[in-house]
Amino acid sequence: MASIFSQIVAGDIPARVVYEDETTLAFLDVNPLAPGHTLVIPKEEYERLNDVPADVAADLYATLHRLVPAVEAAVDADASTVAFNNGEAAGQEVPHVHAHIVPRFTGDGGGPIHAIAGETPDLEDDDLDAIADEIDARV
Ligand code: AMP
Repeated sequence: MASIFSQIVAGDIPARVVYEDETTLAFLDVNPLAPGHTLVIPKEEYERLNDVPADVAADLYATLHRLVPAVEAAVDADASTVAFNNGEAAGQEVPHVHAHIVPRFTGDGGGPIHAIAGETPDLEDDDLDAIADEIDARV
């Protein structure tokens, strides 16, 4: 079964499309967190960010780069929060990679991206060094 976003790409269900090119599509979120809340997707269905091939990931970033100022200007926003829920445990509900562009307004009562954390860990310098080494060893 194709994801709901693949059905939008195929034109099988409607969406308010605001941008389209060969590999990416952008459309308004049906349950907006703010006026202008926009989703940017690769047309091909990939579940997680790291499943997206590098060339399509570059296209996705190029579309974000193009869309963010357009979205902000369209709704006269002061800023925007741009984020991916990458995996179910992070709150991803639609298993088709999508970036959220959420316009932000001074005094809108929302929080920074740091607000996603539940309990924050108390890490010593040694722990941070070890984690940095573990990541560095894998890239
Ligand atoms: P996420 O929790 O990151 O997977 O976000 C999924 C987003 O997709 C939510 O913000 C939904 O409001 C949005 N969404 C779900 N179905 C549709 C649809 N048919 N058209 C536009 N946005 C949708």
